[in-house]
Amino acid sequence: MPRPDPRPVFRFAPSPNGLLHLGHARSALLNAEMARAAGGRFLLRIEDIDATRCRPEYEAAIYEDLAWLGLDWERPVRRQSEHMDAYRAALARLEAMDLVYPSFESRAEIRRAVAARPGWSSDPDGAPLFPFSRAAMDEAERRERQAAGEPYALRLDMARAVALVGEGLSWREAGEAGPVPADPAAWGDVVIARKETPTSYHLSVVVDDAVQGVTHVVRGADLKAATSVHRLLQRLLDLPEPLYRHHALVLDEQGCKLSKSIGSESLRDLRARGVSAAEARHMALG
Ligand code: GLU
Repeated sequence: MPRPDPRPVFRFAPSPNGLLHLGHARSALLNAEMARAAGGRFLLRIEDIDATRCRPEYEAAIYEDLAWLGLDWERPVRRQSEHMDAYRAALARLEAMDLVYPSFESRAEIRRAVAARPGWSSDPDGAPLFPFSRAAMDEAERRERQAAGEPYALRLDMARAVALVGEGLSWREAGEAGPVPADPAAWGDVVIARKETPTSYHLSVVVDDAVQGVTHVVRGADLKAATSVHRLLQRLLDLPEPLYRHHALVLDEQGCKLSKSIGSESLRDLRARGVSAAEARHMALG
């Protein structure tokens, strides 16, 4: 029998829904450098489950920009859109544990319900928690509406999932003295899949990290709180626990995190105004 590969595995997992900026460069460079220093592997994963926002030209730009930065990665690259069966299987396991339910409320209905409840809590990303509950609709009505072809989101029954996993869920974060307590309940009944897509960011990321044998998840601090949901899903699905490191974000001159939505300068823009790859690496890591 071949011996399992003992090398640590790192990955950079961008979504091709825009051009990469210095924040992405920081993640990619840190992963590649940590892999190199540990004699490990560096993988690139294309997180393209959202067919409405992901574009082939952005995927092509990812390869071009990373190569420009001087990075190299293993081939073939895993593209999430090609692995829906793996996510469907994980979803089926959660469904078999009775942890998932369809919810039919539109975004507008959710907004109205939240507006009617001043002081309603938000999740760690600042979005209001789902203001309805599984108990608010009986199973027969859910089945009927699903059968009628209505659009729906499949949500995790968070209270049930947390009760099943029990107390003491945590993760190991590089640089922290002890385990970081996970608080998945702070996210409420998160969306795990949708009618047209048998997965979500949270579900695909834990499935892929396990399938690819990822041992070290190195990513921006903006994803630190999501690790609570990832650890919960890993426990529910019997997946291994990677070591996490959430690095500081690259901020712009106003102190805002870089983002496509605020028009942050892309790596391509930098290159076009004559910034060299060495300067870009320095800006990303500095
Ligand atoms: N695809 C995610 C993003 O672009 C990153 C996923 C991860 O590193 O866990 O923000």
